[in-house]
Amino acid sequence: MRDFVLDQPGGRVVFGAGSLDAVPGEVRALGAERVMLVNDRHSRTTAETVAARLPGLVVARVGRTATHVPEHLAADAVRLARESGADLLVCVGGGSATGLAKAVALETRLRILAVPTTYAGSEMTPIWGLTGDGRKRTGRDPGVRPVCVVYDPVLTLGLPPALSAASGMNAMAHLVEAVYAPRVSPLTVTAAIEGAGALARALPGVVRDPADLAARDEALYGAWLAGWVLGTTTTGIHHRICHVLGGRYALPHAATHSAVLPYATAHNREAAGPSLAPLARALGAEDAAAGLWDLAVSIGAPTSLAAVGMRERDLDEAAALVAAERPVAGVRDLLRAAYAGARPS
Ligand code: NAD
Repeated sequence: MRDFVLDQPGGRVVFGAGSLDAVPGEVRALGAERVMLVNDRHSRTTAETVAARLPGLVVARVGRTATHVPEHLAADAVRLARESGADLLVCVGGGSATGLAKAVALETRLRILAVPTTYAGSEMTPIWGLTGDGRKRTGRDPGVRPVCVVYDPVLTLGLPPALSAASGMNAMAHLVEAVYAPRVSPLTVTAAIEGAGALARALPGVVRDPADLAARDEALYGAWLAGWVLGTTTTGIHHRICHVLGGRYALPHAATHSAVLPYATAHNREAAGPSLAPLARALGAEDAAAGLWDLAVSIGAPTSLAAVGMRERDLDEAAALVAAERPVAGVRDLLRAAYAGARPS
């Protein structure tokens, strides 16, 4: 008997090498007349290219972003959006740029067109996040999900191997947590397994040769699926831990996901039961947790919290903070295993 919930995403997706050229047409198709551009430092030139192809339409620009969207940056961007009378947000960059645009959309109800340049996946989700006073708040609001997403693998060619590897494992985390999510839809599981296979195939090639467009195309395809999957279902203990660690200890977002994922997967082995088996197969492994660890090691992504800057003395506090959100047995052991970084057995 089937019993599931599917949060159906409604946006438009344009995918393919060279798709950046489609942005002006997509902006016009949305009927926008006053665009506010949001980009991270890396995507400044790309944003300038977009602006040049939208003569007279760009009324405001934000070029400063930060991980986990600090509240003061969001407040400044909201003010600029209001003062400029913008009617569309176009964000270009990683998850932090998308996150800032979402923070503006949350307050102003403006629509977003997103051009992602990492594998974070935020562009496909209704999830927003804001950080202040060492605490990250998140929520779901369909109004912040971009109405159009333009994926151009060419824009990811410059993503350095270490960032590519960590960001790829961040995407993988969305896929892993989907397969054992309560009441997950069969469509989501199918997409998750497809995405995991794509990332497992692509990431070694991306790291070996960051300019390999075919590998970049496959990795971004996996990342799209990961974002789609994240937007259609719920997350579990892995995302909760990364959320607490990111907000409280300012650890690097994608790298933290990479470091925690094999251990969160091992922690969930029993509860997940057979749902992890197709995932393991997609990874070419006997066991999903060990397969994720092997993949991370093979692409040089972090497999320990020590390696991403977590201090051992903070582990107990972190476990208490995670458990305070919702009590779960074994979080302290999970964090200790993630800190040590040995291959899950
Ligand atoms: P990021 O956006 O902070 O980018 C990391 C660094 O990479 C930045 O310095 C950026 O300028 C640079 N960069 C981006 N694209 C590049 C490229 N193609 N080449 C070279 N450099 C590039 O990191 P991220 O991992 O993409 O995003 C992390 C943020 O996204 C976190 O705040 C996280 O909470 C959020 N996130 C949200 C969701 C959601 O659904 N709401 C999902 C995933 C991540």
